This record gives sequence, C-alpha cells and structure tokens, in this order.
Amino acid sequence: MPAELIDGTAIAARIRGEVSAEVATLKASGVVPRLTVVLIGDDPASAVYVAGKGRACVEVGMDENTIRLPASTSQHELMELLDCLNADPAVHGILVQSPFPKQIDPGAVIRRIDPSKDVDGFHPVNVGKLLAGDRDGFVPCTPAGIQELLRASNVATHGLHCVVVGRSNIVGKPMAALMVQDGPTANCTVTICHRYTRNLASFTRSADILITAVGRPGLITAEMVKPGAAVLDVGITRIPDATRKSGTRLVGDVDFEAVREVAGLITPVPGGVGPMTIAMLLRNTVRAAQRLAAA
Ligand code: NAP
Repeated sequence: MPAELIDGTAIAARIRGEVSAEVATLKASGVVPRLTVVLIGDDPASAVYVAGKGRACVEVGMDENTIRLPASTSQHELMELLDCLNADPAVHGILVQSPFPKQIDPGAVIRRIDPSKDVDGFHPVNVGKLLAGDRDGFVPCTPAGIQELLRASNVATHGLHCVVVGRSNIVGKPMAALMVQDGPTANCTVTICHRYTRNLASFTRSADILITAVGRPGLITAEMVKPGAAVLDVGITRIPDATRKSGTRLVGDVDFEAVREVAGLITPVPGGVGPMTIAMLLRNTVRAAQRLAAA
C-alpha cells in the first residue's frame, strides 16, 4: 500500500488560522504584530521569497514592511539599521533575507539582531536555547514546521531512530537538536549524515523517521528507506520538465514515486515541508509580539 501523504498545505493553513486568531486578540489589546524584512540587493529569488512572506503576513492581519537596500550597502549601514529596528517597539520580528552581498558578514548580521526579535531563530542565543531544551527561544522555521508535521500526523516519535541528512545551520543541525530533546514529538535517537558520511544507505535504512535536507534530486531511493518509515523531504530543486508549460518543476531529494511504495508516511514536493516554513515564521512573529506585549 502506498504511503500516506502528509499534506503540508492543509496543516500550514490550519496554523495560519490559529495565528490569525492570535493576531486578532493582540490587535484588540492595541498591539499590531509587525515583521520587518530587510532585503539587500536585487537577487530575483530573494525578492520572490520576501514577497511571499509579506503576503502571508497581510493574510493573517499582521503588519509587514520590507526595507530594500542597494547591493552596495556597507556592513556599518546595515548594523545601524538593525540597531534602529531593535530599538523600535513597533517592530516585533526582524529578518534579513539571505544571501547577502559579499561585503556583508552573515554571522555579524545574525548576532546583531535582538534575540527577542530573531524570528528566524538563527541568533546564537536562540541556537543555544534550542540545544539546552529551553522553550523560550525561537526555533528555526523549517525544522519547527517539520516537527509540527510529525505532530499533526500523530507520529509517536519517542524512542524512534530519526536520521537527518544534511547539517546546515538553518535546517539539519536545528532539526537534529529538536528531535533529540526530552519532550513531545521528540525523544528520538538521532543520527546526522552529511557529505562525509560513509555508506549513507546503512543509516537511512535504519531510520524510522528520515528527514532529508540536501538539495540533490534522487539522492534517496526506495532501497534506502525502511518499510513503513516517515519520510520528510526538505530539498527543493528546480529541474527541466518539457511536459510543463513553464518548462521546469520542483523536486525534493527523495525519489518520490518509488519511495512512496515503501514508506508509511511521506511529504510531497511541493506541498509538504515548504508551506510550513512561512507558517512557522508567522507563528514566531506572533509569539515575539505576545512576549513584547507582556513584558
Ligand atoms: P545546504 O546548506 O546546502 O546543506 C546541504 C547539506 O547536505 C550539507 O550539510 C551537505 O553536507 C549535505 N550533503 C550534500 N551532499 C550530500 C550527500 N551526497 N550525502 C549526504 N549529505 C549531503 O542546504 P540547506 O540550506 O540546508 O537546504 C537543503 C535543501 O533544502 C535545499 O534544496 C534547499 O532549497 C531546501 N530548503 C527548503 C526549505 C523549505 O522551506 N522547504 C527551507 C530551507 C531549505 P556538508 O555539510 O558535508 O557539505
């Protein structure tokens, strides 16, 4: 029997509905949650991502403003802007869209954002809180969204082997840190794989939960998946497809059609993990506003 599909679009819509209700409550008490996005330069893909985030904010009733800076912006100018945003009580969430021009030090940017407004969850304070199991911090949106997909799909994660393929700071490492915590939808035995992992299949085949965040179409084949496993595919790659009007389509890291015959649960690409990332960004921003309002 083919695996059950995890419908990220529907689960994300539910979360957006919950966020909308929380925004309405905040507004009734005079607080309008606001996300400020800083976009440096004119990378077309970044502009598309930022526009999507803006639309999502408006849909749930939040304020959103995008500050567009030229590609020539200096580190000093960006730092001054971040200081102003940190000090502005009307701004609850700050996000600086990557990639950055080469004169900008990404680590310094992340460290300059006030951790209480770091809705991406990348500041070392929030990274540390995640590792320490302190639920006060902000969790990066994509891993938080994947944990939410597992929760919504009633996966009893405790004691399961979770294998995360990919060790980026934005997905792989925080994902592993989340699943190893002592708490709900966690308590897994976690393995992290990367480019230097020897015999990747020997690890993936023992995964009850397989999360792949690499960006290599077809990396995970049916032979690499344990029968009945939950497979969550973070990868997004655009490949040529002559059958589509656009001439391209998006695919994940998983050989979807073949793996679907082996797995118990599986996320499609698109429509799986992707929609959760923005939903969790909205949730983090409303949390930031709630905390600032309560402070
Ligand atoms: P990244 O920073 O490029 O990291 C990719 C990771 O994959 C690295 O840790 C790399 O290992 C590992 N890797 C590469 N080849 C491998 C192999 N053959 N076997 C095992 N591991 C291998 O990427 P990322 O930012 O985490 O993103 C990963 C993918 O997810 C991309 O396709 C991206 O577009 C997508 N993504 C989707 C969402 C969403 O909302 N759905 C959000 C973020 C990212 P090394 O560290 O050894 O190089």
